[in-house]
Amino acid sequence: MIDENAWDTGDERTLVLDGVEAGSFSRAGRTLFANEALWEPETWLIALDSPVTFPALANVTAHAFGEGVWYRVTFQRTALADANGALYPLQASPDTPRERVKVTQVEELNDIRIRNKLERFARLQGGPRATKAEVKALLDAAGADIAEPMLVVYDVGQGNCNALVDAGACPGSPPKVHLFFDFGVPTGWNYPTLPTPALDPLSSPPATLPPPVVLSHWDMDHWAAAVGGGPHYGRTGAVIHWDSRAIADRKWLVPSRGRGGLGQRLTPTAWRLALALHRHGNLMIWPTLMNSVRSAAGHWIIKCVPQPGVKWDNNNTGLALSALLCTRYGDHALCPGDAEYSSILTNASQPMEIFHLVASHHGANLTHAHAIPDAYYSGMSTLAFSHGAQYGHPKAGAISDHLSHGWNIQHETHNRRALAGFTHGTVGLSYWQRKVTHKMCSGCASRIATCPVWV
Ligand SMILES: [Zn+2]
Ligand SMILES: [Zn+2]
Repeated sequence: MIDENAWDTGDERTLVLDGVEAGSFSRAGRTLFANEALWEPETWLIALDSPVTFPALANVTAHAFGEGVWYRVTFQRTALADANGALYPLQASPDTPRERVKVTQVEELNDIRIRNKLERFARLQGGPRATKAEVKALLDAAGADIAEPMLVVYDVGQGNCNALVDAGACPGSPPKVHLFFDFGVPTGWNYPTLPTPALDPLSSPPATLPPPVVLSHWDMDHWAAAVGGGPHYGRTGAVIHWDSRAIADRKWLVPSRGRGGLGQRLTPTAWRLALALHRHGNLMIWPTLMNSVRSAAGHWIIKCVPQPGVKWDNNNTGLALSALLCTRYGDHALCPGDAEYSSILTNASQPMEIFHLVASHHGANLTHAHAIPDAYYSGMSTLAFSHGAQYGHPKAGAISDHLSHGWNIQHETHNRRALAGFTHGTVGLSYWQRKVTHKMCSGCASRIATCPVWV
């Protein structure tokens, strides 16, 4: 399968193929969830130097992603000069050697039986769907007992990782995490866009319960922080060591297909996360027919539905979080992941006052700029861009489109600064900044690495 994200955001036209080895796949059961614990898909990520040289990929942009196209790819690892691609590592430092491959054939896969099985895996078919009550209970527990809600947009370079935290004990005690929204780090050649040292979201103190992860969508830059050390390729493909703190200790609420069977398609590398979570009993799949859920504390999770003109891709068919920052005035902070705002707000069952906003899709241009929510209070409302300056994000058009909706205060996670011994660009969006001066954080003796440097 083509890694939609790597193709979509790359200006330099890198195309990454995410695949499962044919023999490994033929040994698998009928669905991803029908497999014995010993079965692990042998997966490979291959970045092609010049995709258009393969006729099957020549007009790949014309294919709507999400339509079930699979390719059969033949390649070998090589040290010779005729290499035309490289193994794409999950985590590559600048000095990670590019392991070269020679791709000899790329053809569209026409065998309907194999294609259907691949689609069953990609759509998480056979996976147990959570009930609406289970989803609500998860969100109720995570959102309970927050004295001063704050939404933190961690500086994870070209990726996304947000958290709902309690800043009620600030200063004097660092914020406690109640819920993660996305758990991303950059992958492949984008990996060095992380700050140095890399920020570990799990180093924040947790609330009483291990904070669950709500996954916006299955693109790797939104979940790859669950991968521990590595990356390496072995004889049987990518070697992935999961960070057990991320996988074993907490639930993940993930999107899958929506109404009509359209929506999320997981690449084979993402199957491995779903499988690892499932084997720990921690995979919660969003119920197919549920539009949204509101927690007892007033936080919303909304299922995205693309409006006419927007692609039914992973970005626009996932989940969004709207965290309630102030009960009294009903002010929210909206976390869209990579979804257009128009894909989110149609399923919100009541209009929301968006006090703070995380910019959609790392600041990429929007198809529906008119759907940007208006800043509730331009004098204080803050827009945060989570990006790694790799693709010219945020785009000039996205900046000006947001400005015209009142988002005059804009922070970028890539805009790094040193504050009390920590250098990164983490942004904190909270209601209490109305009352407390910004100087509180710089003077705080109990600052930790995950505390915001911009508020
Ligand atoms: Zn995405
Ligand atoms: Zn993304």
